[in-house]
Amino acid sequence: MDYKPGYIGLFKTGRLQKRSRMAHESMDSCVLCPRKCMVNRLQGHLGFCRSGFLPKISSYNVHHGEEPPISGTRGSGTIFFSHCNLACCYCQNWPISQQGQGREVSCERLAGMMLELQERGCHNINLVTPSHMAAQILMALEIAIPHGFNLPLVYNTSGYDSLDTLKLLEGSVDIYMPDIRYTDPGAAERYSGAGNYPAVNKAALREMWRQVGELKVDDGGIAFKGMLVRHLVLPNGLSQTKDALKFLSTQISPHVHLSLMSQFFPAHKANQGNELGRPISQEEYRQALAWVEGYGLDNGWHQELDDTGGGPPDRIIKVS
Ligand code: SF4
Repeated sequence: MDYKPGYIGLFKTGRLQKRSRMAHESMDSCVLCPRKCMVNRLQGHLGFCRSGFLPKISSYNVHHGEEPPISGTRGSGTIFFSHCNLACCYCQNWPISQQGQGREVSCERLAGMMLELQERGCHNINLVTPSHMAAQILMALEIAIPHGFNLPLVYNTSGYDSLDTLKLLEGSVDIYMPDIRYTDPGAAERYSGAGNYPAVNKAALREMWRQVGELKVDDGGIAFKGMLVRHLVLPNGLSQTKDALKFLSTQISPHVHLSLMSQFFPAHKANQGNELGRPISQEEYRQALAWVEGYGLDNGWHQELDDTGGGPPDRIIKVS
């Protein structure tokens, strides 16, 4: 099938360039994300995400471990941004997200990475932890399009995204892949330093759904548009899984694609004898799967769980 990403039309009419300028300007007193730090990133001042003007990338490569319609047969072209606008105490990528491992590059170079991954045959460009780099992504897109860039853009986010920034991304992002991490402000504050995460996240998911709707795949089962939500089950009920699934089913749609993840292990500061200091149990994951069924969520994937915790990506199983 011949899908043309929305950003091509936006570029032709000049709307992409206008939004890219607006996003750029919003960094002179940064309100790109819900933290609203109001620091001047254009002059190199740093806010919560410790990111200045230039995009910082920890790696870019062909990735085969995402959900099947994202990785497909030729892989997803992942670009991992350094730093993050959350501070999850159990983050498995904390050297990248919290210590900022990576290298600053120009927006031209970021565009070059997108084009290179397209050249390597990837199905899409998968922007990992993009929320604090939304302006740079639009600028890179503007540079890449005249060079023939035409892959779907996947916005692989923690779901801590501002509505204003999401509106600037409308039409440029083809696939939203947000998390729903918590529905309880106390847990969000304790474990990710963002007490307003539940309210922000619910509004962001509604907006993403409004923009792109249900996940659509081509004849080969490869996604080209829509939303896919991830929920990582934490031990001891700390991710409010039942409530999160209820929200998805009743406030988004029972047909939203859900990836229910069992792969939590105590990393970073979680490995200190606290309530996050163990993988989830089989019983906890079985209970989560029963809620998925109970709320009629009939699209998506879950992972196999064995005694050592979550399964590797090739054991992601279609919800039946
Ligand atoms: S993107 Fe960074 S500097 Fe801007 S508001 Fe968010 S955390 Fe603060």
